[in-house]
Amino acid sequence: MCHVCVIESVKARMDRRSFFRIAAAGAAAAAVAPSGADAQERTLRYRQVVDLTHTLTPDFPTYFGTPAYAREMAFSWAKDKFNLYNLSYGEHAGTHFDAPFHFSADGQSVDQIPLDKLVCPIAVVDVRSKAAADADYRVTPDDLKAFEAKNGRIPDGACVAMLSGWDAHLGTAKFRGEDAAKTLHFPGFHLEAIDFLAKERNVAGIAVDTLSLDHGPSKDFAVHYAWLGSGRYGIEAVANLAALPPTGATLVAGAPKFKGSSGGPGRVMAFV
Ligand SMILES: [Zn+2]
Repeated sequence: MCHVCVIESVKARMDRRSFFRIAAAGAAAAAVAPSGADAQERTLRYRQVVDLTHTLTPDFPTYFGTPAYAREMAFSWAKDKFNLYNLSYGEHAGTHFDAPFHFSADGQSVDQIPLDKLVCPIAVVDVRSKAAADADYRVTPDDLKAFEAKNGRIPDGACVAMLSGWDAHLGTAKFRGEDAAKTLHFPGFHLEAIDFLAKERNVAGIAVDTLSLDHGPSKDFAVHYAWLGSGRYGIEAVANLAALPPTGATLVAGAPKFKGSSGGPGRVMAFV
């Protein structure tokens, strides 16, 4: 290619790039910033995308111990030359979202969670050693303060995830930890930690690698009521948190968009 041609082609590419950048910034402002006030351009640099979603099978464990979903084939390749299943499931199956409406009278339903709260920094609080020693462990304010002493302040707008290591127990009875009295045993957040995150920090959501934001034995769902009741979201049964750094990754939490729903399974990933 001649010099002029190269220059012209580079110029065309630059123009195209800046056009795309402006278009992307405009689209981001329209789609992500509800008020239009926050139109700042963000750059996402990453080496890999980590899947934080478990594969959902009918026998995936659920809080209530019922099947995660049922499916029947409505159309089949053999008969109809295309495949289509009808699914039926409770909203809280597999790696799934808890919308504020789940534990409040009139909180946001899952379709109403703003996109800018679902694409955000993720802070991963590692309590694996404590959870290994105590299946009923709860993340405390001290755990959060120790996390910050090591990794810096929890970023504004973050999702704070509990890494208890519980996804390693998937496929065994320990994942639900049900005892003879039907009480479940797995780690979750402590109400005091929730209070700290709600009042002292600017946090969009919390995530756990267990079946509930509250720890297994909870009968009052204090964390669910306090956190979802404050208008923030939760994500439960998250996978692969151990593959993320404590800070620096960007969560892309693909919540479903069923109108008026209390939650639902989605695709959750992180850019690392
Ligand atoms: Zn749930």
